[in-house]
Amino acid sequence: MQNGERKETEKIRLIDLTLAEVEKLILDMGQPKFRAKQIFEWIQKGAESFEDMPNIPKALREELSAKAYIGAVKICEKFVSKIDETRKYLLELSDGNFIESVLMKYEYGYTICISSQVGCLMGCKFCASTIGGKIRNLSAGEMLSQIICVQKDLGQRISNVVMMGIGEPFDNFDNVLKFIDLVNAEEGLNIGQRHISISTCGIADKILALAEKKLQITLLISLHAPTNEKRSEIMPINKKYPIEEVLSACREYIKSTSRRISFEYTLISGVNDSVEEADKLSRLLKGMLCHVNLIPVNKVKEIGFEKSSKAGIEAFRARLEKNGIAATVRREMGSDINAACGQLRKNRNQNIN
Ligand code: SAH
Repeated sequence: MQNGERKETEKIRLIDLTLAEVEKLILDMGQPKFRAKQIFEWIQKGAESFEDMPNIPKALREELSAKAYIGAVKICEKFVSKIDETRKYLLELSDGNFIESVLMKYEYGYTICISSQVGCLMGCKFCASTIGGKIRNLSAGEMLSQIICVQKDLGQRISNVVMMGIGEPFDNFDNVLKFIDLVNAEEGLNIGQRHISISTCGIADKILALAEKKLQITLLISLHAPTNEKRSEIMPINKKYPIEEVLSACREYIKSTSRRISFEYTLISGVNDSVEEADKLSRLLKGMLCHVNLIPVNKVKEIGFEKSSKAGIEAFRARLEKNGIAATVRREMGSDINAACGQLRKNRNQNIN
């Protein structure tokens, strides 16, 4: 370590800063303001170190590296589906932790699914991401960096973002709000709110807090069961925020934003997939501006849950439609590289330990 150089943990993580914040830093260093825009743009294009910024004078690069670091994620492993080009990435954070991102190709462009935490505290019984608990929150920039890194690897623009990877976004609320600002930035990725979807297990007070912000993002709620008894069994968070409270917050959200909410319902054979449950779900959602995404459960090695049969899934969907609830079955992407959310990271950690 050179004289005056700080430890990485004490340094400023540039990936977290807005352009205005980089400008403040650069002006405080006695440098001209235009340098901030140059540095910001390099970071947004995927620079991993100050060496990747050829138009920044060497002296400034050295001064910067004494007090700041970029903090971009790095690709550790990549799997590309031969069926539909879906890509799964295992990404390494600057402190050595791992997260996952998935890139999906649709007719209208590329969508990335990003992580919001290292691990997860929520304990949903069917989910691989929560098995080892939560290690830490991701910063806003670490969420952004997943998009920058994958976009650079792909060589094409990513137009849509879904926050459905590892973690519970509303257990990291402030950083998620800052992430929305960063990803919106015109000088940055310039992805509009309508192209961002956020999925939550139903932390009702944060749904209400988001409603007040009147953003244009799409909110997805993981419901997965139509009664408190069944939901508490598979989603422990239901004991804190039962179904009525979640749905009441959702109604408030719709009233405040006029945005349609999507409810996710993972179909698990013999657990939550009967037509009686489809009827109960319909009664809960009747009259709401909403849509139901049915997800055939992904098998996780450590967990015994099985997918519902094709016929069972179709019967569930048809029953919802008959009851006047719009529902679609989520298309399975990248089934040849299929590792349910959180499995890549878990396997990696097991190999290390
Ligand atoms: N914490 C957020 C994001 C999690 S992942 C949330 O709970 O919404 C996105 C979705 O995948 C959630 O609906 C989650 O419940 C679901 N999911 C998790 N594990 C799954 C599995 N093994 N099979 C199918 N869906 C799963």
